[in-house]
Amino acid sequence: MSRIILQPSGNKDAREHYDDTILNPVGVNSISNFLSDKEKNIISKIYPNNKLFIWGVTPGGNNISKWNKINQGDVTLFSKDKRIYSSGVTTYKFQNKDLALFLWDKNSKNQTWEYIYLLDEIKTHNIPYVDFNRCIGYKENYVIQGFNVLDKEKSEKVLNRFNLFSDTYIEEIDVSYFNKISLDLDITEQSYTGLRRLEQGFLRKNLFKNHTLFSCCCCKKEYPVSFLVAAHIKKRSHCNNKEKLDENIVIPLCKFGCDELYEKGVLVVQNGEFTSSRKNENENIKLYIDSIKDKRCNYYDTNTSEYFGWHYDFYN
Ligand SMILES: [Zn+2]
Repeated sequence: MSRIILQPSGNKDAREHYDDTILNPVGVNSISNFLSDKEKNIISKIYPNNKLFIWGVTPGGNNISKWNKINQGDVTLFSKDKRIYSSGVTTYKFQNKDLALFLWDKNSKNQTWEYIYLLDEIKTHNIPYVDFNRCIGYKENYVIQGFNVLDKEKSEKVLNRFNLFSDTYIEEIDVSYFNKISLDLDITEQSYTGLRRLEQGFLRKNLFKNHTLFSCCCCKKEYPVSFLVAAHIKKRSHCNNKEKLDENIVIPLCKFGCDELYEKGVLVVQNGEFTSSRKNENENIKLYIDSIKDKRCNYYDTNTSEYFGWHYDFYN
């Protein structure tokens, strides 16, 4: 589950860094000398336009152990003057002293902000501390001090209350962990919602990996992944637990029509090709499906053919 990172940024250094590397994203070309090939490869998938939002913390205090807890999908809250003024979703992290020196130089203690994490989906907010404090049960006059990572329970409250979840960046979820908690938990309404989010996150992560742009497997158009659904090939409500956790159960479909048509069963896959189902009587829907030039479904294989077959039979 994603966590909340608190990042007060009222002091002079932090204000400057926010200007230098968040408000003004950094071009990959200007820092590529500092990155390994592996890092460049990962970053190019996450940031196809090559503009990075970069943040970092110094090794001072307990910062390193806190930084170690950060994962992809964690949401950073920037705050100053008793309010949270922006948020960003963590995409990737790495330690790099030379890069930090290049970007931000050193502080008065001769340290640099070398524990770096990259952000995306920067959003502005105006959340007074008092609202934040109420949400997690802090005293109303509490002031966020210092870089910190909230525990899972508090993070969940803040993510829900201020609607900060990302569709694009999702924490890596271990299938055995997921299996265990989904079996152990008493399914109350609240834990059910959390589990569904975890399951959906697990499947999205497996499907989209670190890509932020991805193609709809029906119309073949490329979109930001927030416009794509990890759509169940076989209706989820008809899947057993094993099928629900099978990473082959989902395909990428766009929100511009393909997902809706497949979900409603007017679009089906027959012998590996998208086609109109018999159920469809609407001429415009038929035209939409006819207009797709390449009707092959690249996700049709021995792992998925039964799921596609189930869907076809269900709607024909
Ligand atoms: Zn599509």
